[in-house]
Amino acid sequence: MPEPECIFCKIAQHQIPVKAVHEDDHSICFPDIDAQAPTHLLLIPKEHYPNAAAAPADVLGHLLKQAATLGEGLLPQGYRVVVNTGDDGGQTVHHLHLHILGGRPMHWPPG
Ligand code: 5GP
Ligand code: ZN
Repeated sequence: MPEPECIFCKIAQHQIPVKAVHEDDHSICFPDIDAQAPTHLLLIPKEHYPNAAAAPADVLGHLLKQAATLGEGLLPQGYRVVVNTGDDGGQTVHHLHLHILGGRPMHWPPG
């Protein structure tokens, strides 16, 4: 069930329009509004899960496979998949999402 105040639920329900680069029955991928790299996409499940721990294994598997497929297709020089979790992890939207970042060399360690 969508959470009424969740911005990503609203995107998943097409209540807020995005320029989707991929969409299927279970997930949607669209550009981050505050890009941290030349390509910065968010991949979200349409179902609301507050974080990865709350999501079933098959959902997590589907998302990671989808992120890899998108990364391979859009960012052949490489990319980074990030799942910020909790306050210390820098999570600001409490609907599970994968960041897909690329288009420049990524730094390590991350900030
Ligand atoms: P987090 O910090 O939770 O890992 O990532 C949340 C991300 O969602 C941030 O990078 C932020 O820029 C992005 N974001 C927040 N609100 C919106 C929105 O309305 N549209 C889009 N496209 N991205 C958003
Ligand atoms: Zn949500």
